[in-house]
Amino acid sequence: MFEARPDALRIAAGRRSSPGVPPGQGEPCARRHQRSRKKGARTPDGVVYAGRPTLLGNPFMVARFGHRRAVRLHRLWLTGCLGALSLEKLGFCPVEIDALFRLRARVLDRLRQLRGIDLQCWCPLTGPCHVDMLLAVANA
Ligand SMILES: [Zn+2]
Repeated sequence: MFEARPDALRIAAGRRSSPGVPPGQGEPCARRHQRSRKKGARTPDGVVYAGRPTLLGNPFMVARFGHRRAVRLHRLWLTGCLGALSLEKLGFCPVEIDALFRLRARVLDRLRQLRGIDLQCWCPLTGPCHVDMLLAVANA
């Protein structure tokens, strides 16, 4: 007979953007913060800035691809769904493609240390951001 495991329920409830689940219980519920240009604004303690030019910044530049496409390309790239041929079609040269593959390995390595950690970017919280994908991978 099926019996719900209390810890399984808690894990499901502790996924991202579920309010009311204190940190440190169940799965990590790290979230995205928006970086501010306001005078005196600073990154809160315990939050990691994940924009450019840091390792975690989106290598697919908004100026080149537009915001939504840059976020989508980042997701495909990070999940290993963007191969050399696709990158070539996007206009990347072999040296850049090689750099993107090496960067991906480093980012994935870094994300292993960021489980449960909130990340920050400039993007408004109401729109898409590459940090959503970073959080998903870090907390999978
Ligand atoms: Zn962003």
